[in-house]
Amino acid sequence: MSEIKTVGVIGAGQMGAGIAHVVALAGYGVQLHDISRERIDAGLAIIEKNMARQVGRGIIDDAAMKAALARISPAEGLEAVGATDLAIEAATENEEVKKSIFRGLQPHLGPNTLLASNTSSISITRLASATDRPERFIGLHFMNPVPLMKLVEIIRGIATDVPTYETAVSFAKSLGKITSNAEDFPAFIVNRVLVPMINEAIYTLYEGVGTVDAIDTAMKLGANHPMGPLELGDFIGLDTVLSIMNVLHEGLADSKYRPCPLLVKYVEAGWLGKKTGRGFYDYRGEVPVPTR
Ligand code: NAD
Repeated sequence: MSEIKTVGVIGAGQMGAGIAHVVALAGYGVQLHDISRERIDAGLAIIEKNMARQVGRGIIDDAAMKAALARISPAEGLEAVGATDLAIEAATENEEVKKSIFRGLQPHLGPNTLLASNTSSISITRLASATDRPERFIGLHFMNPVPLMKLVEIIRGIATDVPTYETAVSFAKSLGKITSNAEDFPAFIVNRVLVPMINEAIYTLYEGVGTVDAIDTAMKLGANHPMGPLELGDFIGLDTVLSIMNVLHEGLADSKYRPCPLLVKYVEAGWLGKKTGRGFYDYRGEVPVPTR
């Protein structure tokens, strides 16, 4: 097993910020990278806001928050990320984007740096093959919101070696998480089950079976889900939901995974859900209002 002291996080969006948050609170040094300083700063602002909320609820104290924030360094280039013990990629769900990140990271990597991807659906084996160290590459799939959700799905690529797997499991446990192993097939376990359900909810909306409100109320009260599927799609990000459906559709070649045309339309409109202020709900006012 390798010893992890420092962690690089690539992508400071909702997941990258969440991962940096829990990793810094657990005592690791973090290098947080994104495509621009503005994006990194936006990620840092999210982390600070979420940690302050945890202080307000008595989950952590003020000193822990200050110490954790001080452990996170903005990394505008990839040099500092490559020098960490574990680099976790949490950028946009797009295979080419992810592969180009790993190619860009390559010249800066220390000989023993482990690589991980937080991808929701893309083949770990294929991403690993874009690096010089497929045996030290693993899927570490955190759930959203990372500070609250207990699970980390662990996905080994075909070449992932045992020490990398054991290091990944003990790292996830050190963050207070519980792990579950999934084989490297499209969308692994959680999203193989969850995202087609969200897509089906969008079909029920598309076909006029119910309104946004009716569908979400039905699933919350009828299936005891804490969030309705359309609300959940907005929360995940509709671009990410569409990417996962495309990976399932292409990877499993089964028409039951075809993305709903209404989902495609929302993504084309830039109505990606909560992160852009509008999706199946409009979040720009005091309370979310259904958009159809
Ligand atoms: P997001 O859109 O909030 O953030 C993505 C970030 O990646 C953005 O800040 C973007 O600027 C950055 N980025 C894009 N290209 C980059 C590059 N070349 N170099 C560095 N940064 C780059 O998306 P998200 O919801 O945080 O998702 C990120 C990853 O986590 C995806 O792979 C997604 O599938 C996965 N994931 C998402 C969820 C979820 O519920 N949203 C849950 C688990 C895993």
